Amino acid sequence: MILPNMNYTNLKDSYLFFRIAQKVKAYQEQHPGVHLYRMGIGDVSLPLCDAVIKALHEAVDDQSDAARFHGYMPECGAPSLRETIAAYYQGRGVNVTSEEVFVSSGASDELGDILDLFDRSGSSLVIEPAYPAYVDANVMAGRKIIHLASGRENGFLPEPDDASVADLLYICSPNNPTGAVFDREKLQRWVDFANRHGSIILFDAAYEAFISDPALPRSIFEIPGAKTCAIEICSLSKTAGFTGTRLGYTVIPRDLKRNGVSLNDMWVRNRTTKTNGVSYIIQKGAAAVFTAEGQKQIHDNLNIYKKNAAVLMEALDRVNIWYCGGKNSPYIWMRCPEGTDSWSFFDRLLNEIQVIGTPGEGFGACGEGYFRFSTFGNPEDTKEAARRLEKLLRGE
Ligand code: PLP
Repeated sequence: MILPNMNYTNLKDSYLFFRIAQKVKAYQEQHPGVHLYRMGIGDVSLPLCDAVIKALHEAVDDQSDAARFHGYMPECGAPSLRETIAAYYQGRGVNVTSEEVFVSSGASDELGDILDLFDRSGSSLVIEPAYPAYVDANVMAGRKIIHLASGRENGFLPEPDDASVADLLYICSPNNPTGAVFDREKLQRWVDFANRHGSIILFDAAYEAFISDPALPRSIFEIPGAKTCAIEICSLSKTAGFTGTRLGYTVIPRDLKRNGVSLNDMWVRNRTTKTNGVSYIIQKGAAAVFTAEGQKQIHDNLNIYKKNAAVLMEALDRVNIWYCGGKNSPYIWMRCPEGTDSWSFFDRLLNEIQVIGTPGEGFGACGEGYFRFSTFGNPEDTKEAARRLEKLLRGE
């Protein structure tokens, strides 16, 4: 009898969103028709921008014409899109070449699939609170996980030390759930640490487009030495509303080698075996994101989310609540009121002001006592949620 992958038995139930859904369902059953202010979701609410929609329509029409029809796409991505994404980096002064860019169906796929490149007996460091997929993908692969707790004392941006030595180091900046962003000096210390120990940083840059402070790095490859120790995983999901359309990209430098083997060559081999490329239609839609028109339109949308963030931050500032994130990130990570754990705070917000957020405990034990708000909701709901939250926090 074939045995299943028994590592799956080590997975913890992904109870965070399940438990939230249960609580919301119970509330709605008891209060039919009451409007809920959903500030918990990590999904976008604005539609794709016009430039992308136009390109998608054109691509569909191409598929109806024998002269313009596309069958299988190159496994690592359409050469023109790889060039376009490399140019997106170069435009910010980051030297990335097209052969270092791999087009993917999204960051989640890559965060799990990339583990194929590494010996299964190795260890992975996860900085917590963390996006839950890092831990789960490593549990499924049977890898040893080292949990590094972060907290308010280090602004949720921990420094590497002897306890953080691991083969793979997950760094997410801007961070989900805390919204914290590594500055150049702090990121340099992780890059130097990785190079010293022969580790590889898996840098999740899914929220890079939310960084508006030019002093903050949007790519790990802005940091000297990163090309010999890092892989960057990125996505158009939050940047351009592609959560349901699906496109991401991964950058693996040509200089990244371990044991004399090029990880870029290995990933070409992996992709040509395990995928048949991303749909022509979606790649054409994605290319439109990087045009001048597309960039303007996606930034108009990002500004709407940024205004939502400002509304929430102003409300928290007025009541003197500690939080991080929000400025260069779509997430706000606030301290729960004294003596309230994150699930009790969730219950209070739901029952008293009909606002839904995400309890910090769901992102790791050190997230207890904190609460995440997402700024991807619609502006009217966000304003009302902020008003209600401020009132509740004032004790009115
Ligand atoms: N990485 C982080 C930190 C995320 O928050 C998310 C989605 O919420 C992803 C990756 C997944 O992105 P994608 O939609 O490209 O799979």
